[in-house]
Amino acid sequence: MEFAFNEDQLLLQQTLRQFAREKLLPNYARWDRGEKISRAEIKEAAALGIFGLRVPEKFGGQNADYVTCGLMTEELSRGDFNYSLYIQLGLIASELLAGYAHPDVQAEWLPRHATGEAIIAFGLTEPSAGSDAANITTRAVKMGDDYVITGEKASITFAGYADACIVFARTGDQGARGISAFLVPLDAPGVTRQVYKTPGERLTQRGSLFFDGVRIPGQNRVGSESGGFYQAMVAFDFNRAIIGLACIGAAQQSLEDTIEYTKGRQVFGKPLAKFEGVAFQVAEYLTLLEAARLVSYKCLWLKDQGLKHTKEAAMSKWMGPKVSAEAIHACIILHGHYGYNMDSPLEQRWRDVVGLEIGDGTPEIMKGIVAREAFGREYTAYRD
Ligand SMILES: Cc1cc2nc3c(=O)[nH]c(=O)nc-3n(C[C@H](O)[C@H](O)[C@H](O)COP(=O)(O)OP(=O)(O)OC[C@H]3O[C@@H](n4cnc5c(N)ncnc54)[C@H](O)[C@@H]3O)c2cc1C
Repeated sequence: MEFAFNEDQLLLQQTLRQFAREKLLPNYARWDRGEKISRAEIKEAAALGIFGLRVPEKFGGQNADYVTCGLMTEELSRGDFNYSLYIQLGLIASELLAGYAHPDVQAEWLPRHATGEAIIAFGLTEPSAGSDAANITTRAVKMGDDYVITGEKASITFAGYADACIVFARTGDQGARGISAFLVPLDAPGVTRQVYKTPGERLTQRGSLFFDGVRIPGQNRVGSESGGFYQAMVAFDFNRAIIGLACIGAAQQSLEDTIEYTKGRQVFGKPLAKFEGVAFQVAEYLTLLEAARLVSYKCLWLKDQGLKHTKEAAMSKWMGPKVSAEAIHACIILHGHYGYNMDSPLEQRWRDVVGLEIGDGTPEIMKGIVAREAFGREYTAYRD
């Protein structure tokens, strides 16, 4: 067994940790107060490599291994959780486009994606289909060489400013087998947007995308007709470990801040940190976070080896966000009234992390996957 990062990864970790602390953390609250990120700032973030991680080198990306993708996510989340969303969604887009898109679509979009010039959203969820994603009703109808798409995609990260979206739409019968994926430029006639008011992750402008008879070329279909759903599931399985690590980064930083704070805060004549009721809470969450971190990196390592990792991905996705949200909550209480204050990053981190207890699959759905792997497919509730 090998638990160490290699030398390149350690150097990257050091560089990113410093960048997160010095550049991202001081600006973290901006998005929460209504500021919008500029295109220039997005391009600056792209220069760090956050969009091109899994873009092939011939299209300007790094083709990084999956463990390195996780490491980058964890470190940037320490400074600004929102930046991890660029990595998460960027990885899904890279994986789907590099793996399944038409060569012309790859050549047009992947280089722009790697440089941050084009933000590419992921559109699966609908108002009536989230966990039950195989029940989507958005339609893509073949008309000559084109497809015409009609429907609403709900709760889409970056809906407010994405340049394109990988849209899942029905091309065949009911159920998962009748779904295809399409790269839809969001400046196409018939596309409108609505941004939600959300408790956290406000940089991302999550919202709905409406497609009213949107015509796109046939070559914009990503992968085989009616094979889109399975491709998506396979392509982004590992992304659940990335989500786990995003949450863990935010929680780890919160615990380290809490250690420093409780060393300095005097109560009853001694540092708060000397009370076991305080220190043991931190110790407990450090332990739980370490366990969640290990299952996340194991998932990414399995992916790097080309091995099955569905179970570990689902474990990471429910455990990382849950333990992180609970740890950050404890940190708020351990800071007393200073923690329950909008000048502290803690409350914002907590709101941001809770979003990813839901996004990309809720804990119940993740436990369903772990149970399916343990009990066998014939024991899943949705099979008669
Ligand atoms: C921050 C955030 C970002 C998101 N970004 C995107 C995005 O970029 N693209 C995208 O397509 N979607 C996105 N989503 C949508 C997300 O994937 C869905 O919200 C999620 O899959 C749950 O679907 P739902 O909201 O329809 O809840 P529902 O499916 O209605 O579930 C409601 C509740 O019932 C529970 N439940 C459902 N089925 C079962 C069951 N069989 N057994 C037990 N409990 C069950 C769920 O766990 C949940 O607690 C995002 C959501 C959030 C919050």
